[in-house]
Amino acid sequence: MNRKISVECLRCGKCCLANVLSFATDADFQRWEAEKRADILHVIEHYRPVWAGDHLISVDDGRYLHGCPFLSWDGDRCKCTIYETRPEVCGRYQPGSSQICPQWHRNKA
Ligand code: SF4
Ligand code: SF4
Repeated sequence: MNRKISVECLRCGKCCLANVLSFATDADFQRWEAEKRADILHVIEHYRPVWAGDHLISVDDGRYLHGCPFLSWDGDRCKCTIYETRPEVCGRYQPGSSQICPQWHRNKA
């Protein structure tokens, strides 16, 4: 029988380096509208990233984008600045559930 292992998040931020916002759903946008989170909507409207090989750049000026615009740091530990209303895809993500996460090997134990 497979045993489901609960894996701790190390707050390394790697899962927030992709363009996760491209997976924001209509439900996310409707929630942000209902919550009057114009700050979030404004950031997303002006984020406009594209992949340039193996990293994201801004469509506007080509600057290097370091992942999600809501990713912040507390020392060497990441934090989500919109955690309480983060996209559903972020809420569903389980530490160790993909190879980008350093806890992947523990999830496979
Ligand atoms: S990659 Fe894994 S350990 Fe790192 S922040 Fe994301 S869930 Fe946590
Ligand atoms: S919204 Fe928060 S949890 Fe989701 S990718 Fe951005 S920083 Fe990470």
